[in-house]
Amino acid sequence: GKAVGTGTIQYLTHEMDQQFTRKVQLERSLFTALEDGAFSLAYQPIINLKTRRVNGFEALLRWNHTALGSIPPAEFIPLAEEAALITPINNWVVLEACEQLAEWQQTIDPKLTMAINISPHQFQSDSFIRTLQHLISNKIISPRSVTLEMTENIAILQTQRTLERMQLIKSLGFRLSIDDFGTGYSSLQYLSAFPIDELKIDKTFIDGIDVGNVGLLDSIIQLGRNLNLNLVAEGVETSSAEAYLKTTSCQQMQGFIFAKPLSVDEVDKRFNSSTS
Ligand code: C2E
Ligand code: CA
Ligand code: CA
Ligand code: CA
Repeated sequence: GKAVGTGTIQYLTHEMDQQFTRKVQLERSLFTALEDGAFSLAYQPIINLKTRRVNGFEALLRWNHTALGSIPPAEFIPLAEEAALITPINNWVVLEACEQLAEWQQTIDPKLTMAINISPHQFQSDSFIRTLQHLISNKIISPRSVTLEMTENIAILQTQRTLERMQLIKSLGFRLSIDDFGTGYSSLQYLSAFPIDELKIDKTFIDGIDVGNVGLLDSIIQLGRNLNLNLVAEGVETSSAEAYLKTTSCQQMQGFIFAKPLSVDEVDKRFNSSTS
């Protein structure tokens, strides 16, 4: 093969140095990001497929780094997991999203719901359960209006413990949803054993619609229907995908075809008739 010149090696080393420096810089800032107020939430509408009415929102975490700008969650959430910071950050998300929901239930629609992403570590932590209990005892929201989303991978280990955790969360009144359904270590057994209310069908299956590949999507919808689960289609980008989903028993959708994740101000402008 072609020899790699010293220049290339120096260049590659420089690239790696830069990546490493960025990682170290991000990790260091993560420790103070919560108290610095550097996190915010974006809210993506979840709508009823038949009526196109907004049923609720999914809260999505945003980090605005002073020096590096907006850092995508796909980059900083793994870092927060490594640094064991994910649980306090995510507990903040739960509180913030629920306080926002309480406000919007008063100003937009009392029936609005909120979906919140839960990380595996957070799910197992006592501070998470205390956060949920705090929401109830301080009457911040009704737990029935809050859906906690977790990926299927939460379910693969410690099945008995996972089951007990889910039952505890359900006994508090919260709804449970399986996120990115179909992409993880699915087991049909846990789907019927665990107290799950909803499946969020991963975007990869929705993308199949526009290339005529709906076999897996149809099977997932059938499965969800048989298990009596609410179904949400994720990442709907085209009107043809929306039109197809409307013909199925999938009830809800989320995606750029209706709205991207929005700031609080954008939600107020678009859905809150009392502000102008
Ligand atoms: P997710 O939970 O599957 O969230 C949906 C992601 O898809 C969001 O990306 C959203 O902006 C994006 N999306 C929505 N509609 C469309 C569409 O029509 N087309 C395309 N191409 N994308 C769409 P985002 O905000 O970058 O979040 C990425 C992931 O980061 C989330 O995936 C979730 O796993 C994680 N995440 C975000 N916020 C939190 C959080 O508060 N806690 C935890 N643990 N994870 C979070
Ligand atoms: Ca506010
Ligand atoms: Ca999610
Ligand atoms: Ca998802």
